[in-house]
Amino acid sequence: MGSQNLDESLLRRTARSLRSAERIVIFTGAGVSAESGIGTFRDDDGLWSRFPPEEFAQLDGLMGVAMNEPGRAAEFFLALLEPMARAQPNAGHRAIAALEKHKRVTVITQNVDGLHEAAGSSRVLTVHGRMFETVNADGSRRGTVSRDEVIAMVEALRPLCRPSVDFAELMTAVAPLIGFTEAGLYRPNIVLFGESLCEPDWRYAVVAAECSDFFLSVGTSATVYPAAGLPVSAKRAGATVVAIDPLPVANTPWLAGAAGEILPALIKEAFES
Ligand code: NAD
Repeated sequence: MGSQNLDESLLRRTARSLRSAERIVIFTGAGVSAESGIGTFRDDDGLWSRFPPEEFAQLDGLMGVAMNEPGRAAEFFLALLEPMARAQPNAGHRAIAALEKHKRVTVITQNVDGLHEAAGSSRVLTVHGRMFETVNADGSRRGTVSRDEVIAMVEALRPLCRPSVDFAELMTAVAPLIGFTEAGLYRPNIVLFGESLCEPDWRYAVVAAECSDFFLSVGTSATVYPAAGLPVSAKRAGATVVAIDPLPVANTPWLAGAAGEILPALIKEAFES
């Protein structure tokens, strides 16, 4: 095992709990996709350090930047979309999907990148939505955008990252994901700051956490509420709660390391030893 701080005894105990569990929840955040090349937003060089969330993670703020500084908005869309457009599931996503060979599993993810589904997980609650799904102004589903379309958007955005670009050029480039119709603004089906979580997924996620007997939190700083309250609900309900993260996790037994390393090791220990 490569991780220097990994508590091997906790890994074995967690594997035993997983083997005997009957209501399993895997709760994931940005860290599970880090090894797929999608950076977390809060790291020192993360998206929010370059594009403040007060401005870019709210629809009004984002549209204001798009109108007043379209070149800067193009830079933001490029930085957001390019890693997701090209990302593939990593060993962590694949291990979570492979767990279904042994157990019924509910994945609750805060991620919007679609990588759990791409890895083959069959029950995924996307409480913060899906980047490549679009919704109309009234919240109704509009459609899905293929990865090829997103890659084409990325290529269209690249030459627009300059001060002289105008709003119309920007909106043409991002039209598959965001734009105006007579009915108003359509946009990605993601939860921006201050918005409610996706339903019915959030309601099901709360129930799944409260009924779980094994709750594994992977790659989340647990700072974005209300999703960050799910491990607390699971613990209160008596579940075994364990976290996987390279950085220390407060108040929770913690397996130190990368998801792509620890998850396969945990599942091997639980079902193949
Ligand atoms: P966060 O950025 O607050 O925390 C990420 C956590 O992952 C940190 O604790 C970090 O130490 C850990 N981490 C880094 N590399 C890891 C690895 N290889 N394996 C395991 N853990 C690793 O993320 P959050 O708690 O998910 O909250 C941020 C919000 O922004 C969420 O809604 C999140 O889903 C969204 N977001 C989504 C994506 C995506 O869809 N891929 C990417 C960035 C942010």
